[in-house]
Amino acid sequence: MRRGFAGSSASLWEPVRPAGHNGTVSEKTSWQSGQPSERSAVVDLAAVEHNVKRLMQLARGRTLVAVVKADGYGHGAVQVARAALAAGADMLGTAHVTEALALRAAGITAPVLAWLHTPATDFAAALEQDVRLGISGGELDAVLDAARRTGRPAVVHLKVDSGLGRNGATPEQWPALVRRVREAEGEGLLSVEGIFTHLAVADEPARPETAEQLATLTTAVRSAREAGLSPTMVHAANTPGLLSAADREDPDAMLRDAVRVGLGLYGLSPFADRTPEDFGLVPAMTLRTRVANVKDVPAGAGVSYGLTYRTEGPTRLALIPLGYADGVPRVATGAPVRIGDRLHPVVGRIAMDQCVVDLSRSRPVTDAAGKPGAAREHTVRIGDEAVLFGAGSNPSVTDWADAAGTINYEVVTRLSPRVPREHVGLEPQRDSDRSRSVEHGGHPGADRDHGAGAGPGGVVPGDGAQDGPGSGAAGENWSITRELASAEETRALAAALAPHLRAGDLVLLNGELGAGKTTFTQGLGAGLGVREGIISPTFVLARRHPNLADGPRPGGPDLVHVDAYRLGSAEDVESIDLEDTLDTCVTVVEWGTSKVEHLSASRLVVDIERARGAQAAPEQADLAGVLAQLGSQWEEDASAGEVRQITLRGVGPRWTEPPRV
Ligand SMILES: *Cc1c(COP(=O)(O)O)cnc(C)c1O
Repeated sequence: MRRGFAGSSASLWEPVRPAGHNGTVSEKTSWQSGQPSERSAVVDLAAVEHNVKRLMQLARGRTLVAVVKADGYGHGAVQVARAALAAGADMLGTAHVTEALALRAAGITAPVLAWLHTPATDFAAALEQDVRLGISGGELDAVLDAARRTGRPAVVHLKVDSGLGRNGATPEQWPALVRRVREAEGEGLLSVEGIFTHLAVADEPARPETAEQLATLTTAVRSAREAGLSPTMVHAANTPGLLSAADREDPDAMLRDAVRVGLGLYGLSPFADRTPEDFGLVPAMTLRTRVANVKDVPAGAGVSYGLTYRTEGPTRLALIPLGYADGVPRVATGAPVRIGDRLHPVVGRIAMDQCVVDLSRSRPVTDAAGKPGAAREHTVRIGDEAVLFGAGSNPSVTDWADAAGTINYEVVTRLSPRVPREHVGLEPQRDSDRSRSVEHGGHPGADRDHGAGAGPGGVVPGDGAQDGPGSGAAGENWSITRELASAEETRALAAALAPHLRAGDLVLLNGELGAGKTTFTQGLGAGLGVREGIISPTFVLARRHPNLADGPRPGGPDLVHVDAYRLGSAEDVESIDLEDTLDTCVTVVEWGTSKVEHLSASRLVVDIERARGAQAAPEQADLAGVLAQLGSQWEEDASAGEVRQITLRGVGPRWTEPPRV
């Protein structure tokens, strides 16, 4: 038997805490509080982050492409993408361009690769939105046409069909594809970043075809290089490929430069005989509801449509308000539902909206060794929490897949829109922490007064050594404070500052969520004449905006836009390689004070403060609000008409004189 019910027999009244992971799980999910939601798929983003970190360990330094197609396997593509990126994933993968564009529309700026196209695919939109494209051959002309029309070269990954028989050029078609692509690269219409293939039987590691597929990929890469292409990212492994790599004779042949991981992100195992726990993965989704009815029936009572089930003796039944319209497979009769410390089988047919479990045929949840937990007497009542699948000692997705004669991939991706997705386990107070860190240091805030003394526009000489707490850092040369009445003025001030900036300048940008940091950076970008598309870097660490030849400063420096909020240590700072671009670009670091100061002796510090009485940053309890606010942060930046106070401070030899702005 599968170990889907492994783990302790902790009460369901406590949060389901995935075994063996240290991620922080929000305690305040609505399904645990006094007013629980009726039915939901609870998605634990801390589990996703944990899984990404675990998969990155297994990938041993390879690029991790987090596959979030099919709405993140039913878990919510945008939320999962953000969690995966926060945990260190390098790139996102989708099947369709439309799915990639949806990520962009949500403000996600990380690299995205989409690989399944049709004649209806909007390649121009893909190029405009910086979406990388998998290329099998048939779509090449349309992609080149889009590159000509938009003036944006495509970044492509060539796909070789090494044996799956779906997309990709066959080994016979490969030389012709490579030739055409090489030509287009010569014309500046595309650049080949990657070559990849997709495995057919990686979930059955003993089969010989996988090694053959990997050898075919190697041959394809070699011939592409010989033809003049220089791909830097060769990839083959999906989740089963990655999870089985260490057991292979030559793990590197599987891992190559990158891995494309879907199922593993969600904490599920692709193997029939291995559980997620075997790999240190934590299932992220819990499908749960509340018991809608409980009743005693006599022996011989029929249950549900067709009366395919009749009770053997006097029996207690419970009604579970989830059915096939919610995506619960109709054929999964017999699958387990956990109520309290016991597992109850679904009996009779699963209907559109509901199914029935037989409480008289239950068994206790078992621990990892298969031993029953210390089940307490528990009388099932209307309103009791009922879990179809989840982490820890809950039934597993695979239990449901087995009952339905399918695989766990299908069970989670087919959950219907009628089941609300409830995202929990965001880094706790990722946002209210920000305002807190603002109060406790770094930000001039209320305990800083030299701006007020000087009045709007005043320049105050710094007096380095005598700075008190909350005042500027040692080495501060001067400060300028301005009141700005609108986002437009914020943008204009930044644009006016831009001509004073040059390659090698470090700008530290502080201010709470919604203060206008992104608006300010957009103004800098406009003044510097760099490529547009500056948005909040909340979920990426760094983004480079190249100088535009037709902008106001052709040949000027690129802008590197960084979010240092999640950079904990100097090691973290190093991981984003700021030093590589520091001397040649203008580097703007949000939340940079105390994180990256050491990178340069000189810096321009910009503190933006919202006027008193302005709307505070959202509270952690209001998760939906937090998500909505994160999603629309830059819009809010741009639209808010509140008064801001901006203080510029010059530190170090580069900034002895204030800029005339
Ligand atoms: C879906 C998909 C993946 C991810 O597969 P998992 O088994 O879920 O990791 C990787 N590559 C391609 C081409 C895919 O279509």
